[in-house]
Amino acid sequence: MQRIYLDYNATTPLRPEVRDAMMPYFTEAFGNGASIHAYGREARNAIDTAREQVAALISAKSSSEIVFTGSGTEADNHAIKGLTELEKSRGKGNHIITSSVEHHAVLHTCHYLEQRGFEVTYLPVDRYGRVCLEQLRAAIRDTTVLISIMHVNNENGTIQPLEEICEIAREHGIPLHTDAVQSVGKLDIDVQALGVNLLTLSGHKIYGPKGIGVLYIRRGTRLANLVHGGSHERNRRAGSENVPAIVGLGAAAEFAKREQGVYAAHLHNVTERLREGLDAHLSGLHYNGHPDYCAPGTLNVSFENIEGESLILRLDMEGICVSTGSACTSGSMEPSHVLAALGLPPRLAQGTVRFSLGRNTTEAEIDEVLAKLPKVIQQMRTLYRG
Ligand SMILES: *Cc1c(COP(=O)(O)O)cnc(C)c1O
Repeated sequence: MQRIYLDYNATTPLRPEVRDAMMPYFTEAFGNGASIHAYGREARNAIDTAREQVAALISAKSSSEIVFTGSGTEADNHAIKGLTELEKSRGKGNHIITSSVEHHAVLHTCHYLEQRGFEVTYLPVDRYGRVCLEQLRAAIRDTTVLISIMHVNNENGTIQPLEEICEIAREHGIPLHTDAVQSVGKLDIDVQALGVNLLTLSGHKIYGPKGIGVLYIRRGTRLANLVHGGSHERNRRAGSENVPAIVGLGAAAEFAKREQGVYAAHLHNVTERLREGLDAHLSGLHYNGHPDYCAPGTLNVSFENIEGESLILRLDMEGICVSTGSACTSGSMEPSHVLAALGLPPRLAQGTVRFSLGRNTTEAEIDEVLAKLPKVIQQMRTLYRG
């Protein structure tokens, strides 16, 4: 059976051209970027090129603002811990503002900091997951040292009002970090126009390799280090660079920039086909992404009278691979923190599935899903009612 992968927000397949770009750095071009000789220079040049490719993707002023990390998660940790611990040690304050729908890489870092003397405001969100700008303004204190709010949510695709959030942060002189892992490649990102200080992205969400991320650090933004050792990454992140992964992320960034318009249009097209098909075949559906501010490619749906985990297992048997609320919470019956923050009643949260579409998603695949899913739902509902 041909499998259908609709879980691109969890990870994307490595693009063949990206793999080809990486290959030499696993074999003959194995040098350490820190070495002075020809092997070292070869590695260093490749890293520099990748840095420029990433800088171009997000319109950074200089490639020196791009720091490679071991993952998106590490970049989130680095941004939040690195900035707030330094500011606290300088007596600037101990208050952080974030939202209740962040990825665990941000939320769990904030929980950790709360145990170490920080105070954290977790902004509530509306029923589609957007923060309220008035509530953000009201949360700001003299002691606020960082605002960290994601660009696009990984569970429901909702886009935060990032420009306005940046504006508010700038008015108050508070540094802003954004986790843009789910928006890069789908939405335009211009860090200079936005004025963000820190931005996270991840290789494996944009058809690059796993185990590589980026933290954009605007020039002049001061951070403490997370990893100590050699002078790699301009003393920002010690450890011999993962050259093949960095080259892969650079190539993926270049494709993402070049193809963004086409990619977003493709995602929009297949996502709308899925939504229209679901509406035509089924009742008792609720869409949890924002009707106006939603990144293309994500369709988060609650099915009435359905248990989401069972639905996912049934779909898996049909060769259709989707997720419940979030990959990290699957395996547990707890509704995800995002669905809880939307105020979704537990009855609906339980029956929620995230379809996330990507480059290789075809209309034929969507049609196949639409041929199978309604039957599965109807069967399950009959059983559910007993
Ligand atoms: C996947 C994801 C991350 C984590 O990135 P990794 O490279 O897998 O550590 C962080 N934030 C968001 C929004 C994500 O979707």
